[in-house]
Amino acid sequence: MDSSPRKCWAQGCAAEEEAAHRCKGCKQAVYCGRSCQLAHWNEGGHKIECQTLGDPLHPSSVIASGAHDLPTLCQALDRALLEAARDPLQSDDFLALGNSIADDVDAQVEDAR
Ligand SMILES: [Zn+2]
Ligand SMILES: [Zn+2]
Repeated sequence: MDSSPRKCWAQGCAAEEEAAHRCKGCKQAVYCGRSCQLAHWNEGGHKIECQTLGDPLHPSSVIASGAHDLPTLCQALDRALLEAARDPLQSDDFLALGNSIADDVDAQVEDAR
């Protein structure tokens, strides 16, 4: 039971009212207004977070969800390698995600034997 109003995601925002402004990208982040959304997007890192939240096959989403089925893990692994190749600035992060997914895949393959 959660009857509390959804609070604005922007750091430091003290607004008490329900945050009615929803991010169109991930449809999960909510803000009390556009200035909060912009601040969170630029300074709060939502620019990157948004892609993750809005995309169930994003490697970090897959890891966060604790998915253990092989097809999902393999897709997420492909995605991690693809993103690593596409974005040099984030490639280390994606390769690390890929490695941890690969470990999971190995464990699944072991179990299936
Ligand atoms: Zn706010
Ligand atoms: Zn978003």
